Amino acid sequence: MLSDNQQKLAKLAEQVNACQRCPLYKDATQGVAGEGSASADIMFIGEGPGKEEDKQGRPFCGAAGKFLDVMLESIALSRETVYIANVVKHRPPNNRDPLPTEVEACWPYLEAQIKIIEPKIIAVLGRHSMARFLPNLGTISELHGRAFKRDDRIYVALYHPAVALYNGSMRQVLLEDFKKLQLILEKLRNNGETNDR
Ligand code: URA
Repeated sequence: MLSDNQQKLAKLAEQVNACQRCPLYKDATQGVAGEGSASADIMFIGEGPGKEEDKQGRPFCGAAGKFLDVMLESIALSRETVYIANVVKHRPPNNRDPLPTEVEACWPYLEAQIKIIEPKIIAVLGRHSMARFLPNLGTISELHGRAFKRDDRIYVALYHPAVALYNGSMRQVLLEDFKKLQLILEKLRNNGETNDR
């Protein structure tokens, strides 16, 4: 049986699929709401679905997603224990950057997902996600690997996994930043502050 949170997320996914709040739905195959644990301690928020995500209806299931899986595994996490979503839920045509108006139009879905899941940590993947959660603090190359506390939540800035596909040396940088994420999570666990619900 689905938990209350799972039901709420499923309903949200239906709304995402039917969404016409911005024009992105016109060129997309389907909405990609997100996936993972409905009571995750960590949410990973990327930019928007790419070609494979658009086809499968799942976030980060293409090449960048494969590397995300490797990084999750490197810190003893899995897709099932975290939640993965994007700032826009329909694929921007030809993988172009999402427009600020599109991010804005899609924001209520992400906001609702965060409200349901109540993650302790939000890992922002790449500059578009960072611009939304950690605006005006600096560039991703200045801020990656750093944690910021806002209210009762920790935000960690990370490079987008796709950068490692174009620049092999970034792989190590990302893996090291993920280790920091692991340390933060361990600390929360040791303090009994995780979501074990
Ligand atoms: N890149 C993203 O930002 N999100 C995905 O879901 C896939 C690739």
